[in-house]
Amino acid sequence: MTTAQNHKLYDVIIAGAGPVGLFLACELALAKCSVLILEKADDVNSPLKARPFGIRGLSSLSIESLHRRGMYDDLELHKTFKNPHQHAGEGAQRQVGHFAGIPLLAGNIDQSQWKHRLPSSTEPSLMSEMRELENIFTCRAKALGVEIGFGLPITGFEQIGDFVTVQSADQTFCSKWLVGCDGSRSVVRKLGGFEFAGTEPEFTGYTTMVDIADPEKLKPGRNVTGRGMYLQSQPGYVTIQDFDSGAFHNSGQDITLEHVQSVLRRISDTDVTITALRAATTWTDRARQATTYRNGRVFLAGDAAHIHSPLGGQGLNLGLGDAMNLGWKLAATIHHKAPEGLLDTYFAERYPLGMQVLDWSRAQVEVMKPNASARALNAIMRDLANTRDGATYFASRVWGIYTHYDLGNCHPLSGYSVSNFEFEDGTTIGELMHDGRGVLLDFNGDESLGKLAAEYGDQLKYVSGPAKDQLGLSVLLIRPDGIIAWANVGNTNINELKASANRWFIS
Ligand SMILES: Cc1cc2nc3c(=O)[nH]c(=O)nc-3n(C[C@H](O)[C@H](O)[C@H](O)COP(=O)(O)OP(=O)(O)OC[C@H]3O[C@@H](n4cnc5c(N)ncnc54)[C@H](O)[C@@H]3O)c2cc1C
Repeated sequence: MTTAQNHKLYDVIIAGAGPVGLFLACELALAKCSVLILEKADDVNSPLKARPFGIRGLSSLSIESLHRRGMYDDLELHKTFKNPHQHAGEGAQRQVGHFAGIPLLAGNIDQSQWKHRLPSSTEPSLMSEMRELENIFTCRAKALGVEIGFGLPITGFEQIGDFVTVQSADQTFCSKWLVGCDGSRSVVRKLGGFEFAGTEPEFTGYTTMVDIADPEKLKPGRNVTGRGMYLQSQPGYVTIQDFDSGAFHNSGQDITLEHVQSVLRRISDTDVTITALRAATTWTDRARQATTYRNGRVFLAGDAAHIHSPLGGQGLNLGLGDAMNLGWKLAATIHHKAPEGLLDTYFAERYPLGMQVLDWSRAQVEVMKPNASARALNAIMRDLANTRDGATYFASRVWGIYTHYDLGNCHPLSGYSVSNFEFEDGTTIGELMHDGRGVLLDFNGDESLGKLAAEYGDQLKYVSGPAKDQLGLSVLLIRPDGIIAWANVGNTNINELKASANRWFIS
């Protein structure tokens, strides 16, 4: 990437080699699109890519997506890593998540309520790390032929007819489509004129690694005080919420030892002494979402499209979901195999989910505020979280168990992520989706369904045969992103099935 003018016409240019941009690139390249990622950082070791607190919780849909693309086994960190905050305690008392800092205990969560999950389903949640994910996606992207240009921040772009020209300083690149996956301060969003609507922050959050001379002055666990909240999850690992309307974070000032100490002293009402600041980052609960995810040939995905506080740990999962949803639809459009309106369903399906996550994070902030009303609400939430149904509800929201799209189909499972059905030879449906195609899953071996699938060529794969547990179903039409487009019990109405298939594929 040394010439000032790159004459190659790419199908898609992606801004940003973060997890969302990389995963989207993998999806597009799997579907045989040519992809160039332009990344601002000079290389993967650049300070711009430093993630001092990079541990992330993956939710059920992200884990399923990785499984469906053969990357699940590459996740190593969760096998050895114990997050002292998220996973404190043992057995039934093990903390597996939280709502507004209220712990969700493993023993209270009744997974039998999640009827569509099977023994062969992947975990509902696990811990990964930004670096681990980016490495896995980068290896796969490169193996699939994606070009990644480091040290090439997008500085401008222009839509001309059926093309987009993209500038990085004095270099110009050309593509049919541009997707902004360039994070919360997205240049693509700003230059593309996207409205970014939402709410302003209530607090500055601090995540720090510190040496403390007198740690006994701080109480263990999460402490809501009259001024904010502090949490010492393990010695030297301190999180603080200072309800300053995000003033410190927005000021752009350096995070110094003196500043962290003064905030911690004020919030904890102690004279605790910090002797070393080893790492620190700040964040806020600003919650904003682009009012459209598409402007002509330009799309937004991930933090470029939506930001919110990391409470509940859902931003990465939301972004990976965007990528899984957009990838196959954009590829089908590029290959002229997209039914009318397919690309519009990206925004129609993803925007409401983004809004739900923003509201989930706002609800937590409301319960965490240092005032009497919030303390009263917090106590009620704590009681609920300690009940079986309450904990199961919170866990299902945090892990995305009931996440689904409204596809208007009458079967209750339509719009949900497909269960990981296991066939008699031990293969699972997730493993059969590594090629990124849609699947017509026929448990009863009805020949007419095989013929129907063949009408859609390589867009739709026909899989037939009994599964160990079929959840009472006979036929499922599964989109390339693993979402159930149509489901049936008993005899199949071919016309209905065909009408559904025609919504997603071209015969
Ligand atoms: C403290 C904290 C804890 C979190 N915990 C969780 C969690 O547990 N679970 C969870 O799901 N989420 C969590 N999140 C949120 C999650 O980290 C983000 O949602 C996720 O990183 C978004 O990925 P992305 O690829 O959209 O953006 P980013 O990760 O920000 O990547 C954007 C990429 O674009 C590049 N870039 C920027 N500008 C340009 C440009 N002009 N041109 C080219 N490239 C550019 C950047 O260098 C970067 O590589 C947390 C966030 C924070 C701050």
